[in-house]
Amino acid sequence: MDTTLVVYNSLNGKKEIFKSILPNNVGMYVCGPTVYSNVHLGNCRTFISFDLIFRYLKHLGYKVRYVRNITDAGHLENDADEGEDRIAKKARLESIEPMEVVQRYTLDFRDTMAEFNALAPSIEPTATGHIVEQIELIKEIMAQGYAYEINGSVYFDVIKFNDDIPYGKLSGRKIEDLIHNTRTLDGQSDKKNPQDFALWKKAEPVHIMRWPSPWSEGFPGWHLECTAMSTKYLGKQFDIHGGGMDLKFPHHECEIAQAESINKKAPVNYWLHANMLTLNGKKMAKSTGNNILPGEMFSGENSIFKKAFSPMAVRFFMLQAHYRSIVDLSETALEASEKGFHRLQEGISKLEALPTSPESSDFHITVWQNKCYAAMNDDFNSPLLIAHLFDAVKYINAVSNGLQQISKTDLAGLSKLMNVFFFDVLGLLNTNKKQGENGNKQLEGALQLIVELRNNARAAKDFQTSDLIRDSLSNLNIQINDTSEGSTFKIN
Ligand SMILES: [Zn+2]
Repeated sequence: MDTTLVVYNSLNGKKEIFKSILPNNVGMYVCGPTVYSNVHLGNCRTFISFDLIFRYLKHLGYKVRYVRNITDAGHLENDADEGEDRIAKKARLESIEPMEVVQRYTLDFRDTMAEFNALAPSIEPTATGHIVEQIELIKEIMAQGYAYEINGSVYFDVIKFNDDIPYGKLSGRKIEDLIHNTRTLDGQSDKKNPQDFALWKKAEPVHIMRWPSPWSEGFPGWHLECTAMSTKYLGKQFDIHGGGMDLKFPHHECEIAQAESINKKAPVNYWLHANMLTLNGKKMAKSTGNNILPGEMFSGENSIFKKAFSPMAVRFFMLQAHYRSIVDLSETALEASEKGFHRLQEGISKLEALPTSPESSDFHITVWQNKCYAAMNDDFNSPLLIAHLFDAVKYINAVSNGLQQISKTDLAGLSKLMNVFFFDVLGLLNTNKKQGENGNKQLEGALQLIVELRNNARAAKDFQTSDLIRDSLSNLNIQINDTSEGSTFKIN
């Protein structure tokens, strides 16, 4: 079996054979969320894409150190180093501490990613936890002559850097075009040139998130944290850097410039970018109302879709598209995908009881296995892998209906591979069992019985038992409501 992995490198727009710096080890950095609001579904898609990549690299036998940061300071409202810090603004609007904002939305982010069955990264560093490293980095960039201080703020000198090392390698933007296309400074900024970006910003008196530095009491620029944390945990040169397509410019371009200004070599060998998620053909945006939160999709409490979609159905839907293609969320597409997901699960659950024959009919498991790996080795082509899994389901159904045969050895091999691809590589969970009609009916029946027993206890004034039942169910997130017409239960 060929295990040569090919990845699409955004740096040169080509598919390249993946070769890690250290044999059998991979260092991967992915830009994480800015935790000032509930995690966006588009961001979830990016992290699910990199979860697939993380899982597949591990499956191939690599020891992967996966670093995904949490941006909890320094990300201003616009990319021109202006506007309020997103977290500080939210804190001001809600009259709470910035760290309360950070805590709330970090937890929301982790809960949501857990619902999507995304594995936790190896290290999840925060920007505020690495202020010292960021200050040291600024000193190094200044020592190389590529940054300047004005009025307590420090900026990266893009023009000077570009004189020595070309700027714009990742985004393909030329400095001349950038100069031509950028609006002139409005006089509010201290920057020498509009292309320059902040490494350190002096805090205004109202700004609450501030730290001491050699230049002023202030806060680091957004691009700096990723260079500081990727260098600290993965070294000056590492294998994979990922993120959403929208981060390519300026964020990732600035990361490259920062690292190259000190080390004079490319920090990253393979840049991978996940594409956008649209909703009913349009960009998702809170301002237009064309927006839905992951939790609203799972609960069905939203005005966009008529029904609820489980986290696994949404994950499966996203994986049915290649990570570099745009995916459009629509009720029809989600429903079709959900049906397919159930069909796939049914196929897998039939494997256990499949009758075997001395010989297999015309399904060649080795050929099929090679096709599955070839799909994933070709830049993590999950839609093609899923198509191959459906071919196997067709065969499983034919064997189950007595139209085809499978040998004992082939069945063992097929079962193992189907499970590996479904659970380990695609990171899916079997939801048929939990959400099947019988399962719900049985659970509801059992709960109804418990509620009746509790009603009897209450009628007999045995409040110790009735409270014990209520509290025990509450610990399982099952809530009992006592009304004048009797007690009801709700599974949260
Ligand atoms: Zn980043």
